[in-house]
Amino acid sequence: SSEAEGVPVTALERHAELTELIDEANWRYYVLDSPTVSDAEYDAWMREIQELEERHPSLRTPDSPTQRVGAPVSTEFAKVEHLQRMESLDNVFREDQLDAWLARTEKLAGGDAGPYLCELKIDGLAVALIYEKGRLVRGATRGNGSVGEDVTLNVRTIRDVPHRLTGDVPDLLEVRGEVFLPVESFERLNEQLVAAGKPPFANPRNSAAGSLRQKDPRVTAQRDLRMIVHGFGVWRGGREPRSQSEVYARFKELGLPVSDLYRVVDDRDGIWEYIQYYGAHRHDPEYEIDGVVVKVDRLEVQQDLGSTSRAPRWAIAYKYPPQEVNTKLLDIKVNV
Ligand code: NAD
Repeated sequence: SSEAEGVPVTALERHAELTELIDEANWRYYVLDSPTVSDAEYDAWMREIQELEERHPSLRTPDSPTQRVGAPVSTEFAKVEHLQRMESLDNVFREDQLDAWLARTEKLAGGDAGPYLCELKIDGLAVALIYEKGRLVRGATRGNGSVGEDVTLNVRTIRDVPHRLTGDVPDLLEVRGEVFLPVESFERLNEQLVAAGKPPFANPRNSAAGSLRQKDPRVTAQRDLRMIVHGFGVWRGGREPRSQSEVYARFKELGLPVSDLYRVVDDRDGIWEYIQYYGAHRHDPEYEIDGVVVKVDRLEVQQDLGSTSRAPRWAIAYKYPPQEVNTKLLDIKVNV
């Protein structure tokens, strides 16, 4: 196209090459639950392709990996369209990047974005549950954000997931959360797999995804899967919440599994304190965390800020440095 004019051939070629590498990695990670490159390597490809697109904006087409979420869904499961698109999160890795995000957010919100809710970024897989008049009718993976995989029978085997909500139930509720395996259960599962001559999982997140995305829900039922909910797509009827923290209070009343480890803070100092605390206490929770998620607390402000093509503007993930264990496991050639 004429827009592509002026982009050096080397940049075009590298962009195509990175797209292919990332698509292949996405397929192995999200569909096969069996990555063959480390997250650090994958993230480096993502950063490189983002930089290429910043220098040559015409490369940033809607089908670029930078504009998409997840991967095409597996044909092993029935496809379901989400009531609301499921998104990813933008990342920051350093204090100055967090400050830049806060400055941008405050500016977009007219200087009045606070308070903020800080919580742990659970290293699991994103799942949406639909409750109609309080009855669980569907569970689906995030998939490519618009279309996910129907895993209703599998999520029904997770003990944290109520089949019926209690109290003042909404007419329709689509709740989102993270399905995960506690670190101990992940390690035990890998020992069992190895003992049975099967390849172990690369990390807790892949083990949760692999355990949930089983054709036979009886296999899923034998895995110690857990769930924590951290948002909603649709909330129709009942007492509707006005802030993220109120969402969690309401979830609790409804019998949904929420974390007790979130904090509502007024400003960046409160956010930074929370990030530093969990950086030093990373292994206190029973599940693996890879960072902290900071969210604008008021839902009205969230709505005003809206989303980019792949992530909300009202939330950011602060990612901790990667951990040894993943690379160690990857070195012994896992689950391929
Ligand atoms: P992400 O993991 O960086 O974060 C987005 C997800 O965080 C959301 O979808 C949500 O489900 C989850 N989350 C956890 N706790 C949350 C909370 N409290 N509030 C809100 N959301 C919460 O992004 P992603 O798009 O899911 O995955 C991209 C990452 O996956 C990459 O950075 C890379 O680390 C990894 N990956 C690795 C490979 C590989 O081959 N190694 C391939 C693809 C992806």
